[in-house]
Amino acid sequence: MSKLASAIKRTLGGSSAEPTVHFHQGTNEAFPEVCHEGACSRPQLSVRG
Ligand SMILES: [Zn+2]
Repeated sequence: MSKLASAIKRTLGGSSAEPTVHFHQGTNEAFPEVCHEGACSRPQLSVRG
């Protein structure tokens, strides 16, 4: 999970400038799907750490 967490941190840039961005399980867990839909109702990946 550490690789996923670091990938997410890079994507977010360590800021909260994009509060609506979240992630979904991609075809490969090492490459989560980034989603910017604020009203998205699909199951989201939980980001810990
Ligand atoms: Zn989404």
